[in-house]
Amino acid sequence: MESQNPGQIPNSLNSDDYEKKLLSGIHYCTRCCMPETQEGVTYDEMGVCQACQSSEQKIHINWVEREKKLREILEEAKSKAGDNYDCIVPISGGKDSTFQLHVLIKVYQMKPLAVTFSHNWYSETGWYNLQNALQQFNVDHIMFTPNRSLVNRLAKRSLEGIGDSCWHCHAGVGSFPLKIAVKFRIPLLVWGESIAESSGRASYQCPVHKFDRDYFTRVSAKLSPRDLVCDYLSSKDLYPFELPSIDEIEAVGVTGIHLGDYIFWDDERQTEFVRDTYGWKETEMEGSYKGYKSAECIMAGMHDFTCYLKRGFGRATFHASVDVRSGLLTREEGFALAQKYDRERPEALDYYLRITGMSEEEFFSIMRKKKVAKLKDVDLPILPKDRANREQIMPFMEQLIAKHRNIKDVRLHTPPQYREIKGESRK
Ligand SMILES: [Zn+2]
Repeated sequence: MESQNPGQIPNSLNSDDYEKKLLSGIHYCTRCCMPETQEGVTYDEMGVCQACQSSEQKIHINWVEREKKLREILEEAKSKAGDNYDCIVPISGGKDSTFQLHVLIKVYQMKPLAVTFSHNWYSETGWYNLQNALQQFNVDHIMFTPNRSLVNRLAKRSLEGIGDSCWHCHAGVGSFPLKIAVKFRIPLLVWGESIAESSGRASYQCPVHKFDRDYFTRVSAKLSPRDLVCDYLSSKDLYPFELPSIDEIEAVGVTGIHLGDYIFWDDERQTEFVRDTYGWKETEMEGSYKGYKSAECIMAGMHDFTCYLKRGFGRATFHASVDVRSGLLTREEGFALAQKYDRERPEALDYYLRITGMSEEEFFSIMRKKKVAKLKDVDLPILPKDRANREQIMPFMEQLIAKHRNIKDVRLHTPPQYREIKGESRK
C-alpha cells in the first residue's frame, strides 16, 4: 500500500492546510510534530523536545564502545549461567522481537529463554510472526495468556482506570517476564528499543541501567492490580498481574538492559532486515501510515485513538515525528499525515464496544473526563474511516475457532461469560 511507504503522502492530503488544523493554544516541538500534551515531555530553550535531543545525541555516541560494553554484559551472563538459560528475552512477535533474537542468538551465541505475555488480541499476521520467529531461531518459549472473559472485563475497567483499553497488556508485559526470571533463576532480561527512543523519558546519556521493579507500573500500567478490584474483578482474577516482591527479585539479582542503549537502533533498516532475512511481515495498522509497529495487536488503533482523545495526538503524530527526525518527511508533511490518521475513528472501537458492553456514548463520555486540562476547551475532530482494514479486527484465535466451527456471523461467537459481566457491571 502506498500509504505505508514513509515519505509518500497519500494524494488526498494537502499539506498546505496543516497549520489551520493544529490544535489552538498548544505548543508543538519546533523540530518535530510532538505537542506539549505528551506525558513527561520537556523542551530545551529553543523549544526542541527531549526525543529530538536524544536523536541528536544518538549520532554522537561512540557505538563501538557501547557494543564492547554489551559484549561484556552478555559474556558475564553466559559464564554465570552454567547449564541454565543465559538470559530472558521478552518477545511479542513484533519486529523488535525478531531482531532481539537475531542479535542474541546469531551475533552473540546466547541461549535465551523467550517469554511472552499474550494480550490475547493477536492479529493473524502477529501470530504468524511470533511462531515464525520461534521456528527460525529454535528458541524455547513460555507464554501466558489471560482468559477471554478476564481480558474483556479488564478492557472495560482499564478505560475507566487509565483512559485506555490496554491495562492488562501494560501490566502483564512488565510483570510476567519478571516472574519467570525469579522462578527460573535467570537474572538477565534483555529488551529491545531504548527508552530514550520509545518514550522520551530517558536520554542516551543517562540510560536507565539499574533494574527498576516498578518501571512498567509507573510509565504504562499506572495502576497496580489491587487498584482494579471492583464488582466484576476480584483480587484472585488480578493475581497473574502481581509483580514479584523486591526480596524475590534481589535474591536472584535480576537486571535488565535495552539493546538500543548499546547498538545503533534504526527501525526502518531493522524492519527491512527481519523481513528479508527471516520473513517477518508487516500489516495495515489503524491510526498510522506505518505497518510495522504493534503489528501483533488488533487493538493498537483503539489504544492510539484513546491517546488522541486524551492528549490530542495519536500514533501517526509519533511516527511522523520519528520520520521528521530522520529526514524522511518534512515537518509539514508530518503534520498532514498525523492529522489524517490520528483523527480517524478506528474499526477496533466496534470490537471494544462489543466485548465490554459499553455504548459509544458511554465510551466518549468517559474519554471526555480523561482529557488533559490543556485541551478541556479544545474540540478534537473525529473523521469516519473510509476503508475496511486489511487485517481483520478480531483476535486471530477467535477467527480460527469461528472458521472451524463454521460460525458465519462472528458476533455470535462472543463468549458466554460476557453476558454475565455485562449484567454485573450495569447494576
Ligand atoms: Zn521534537
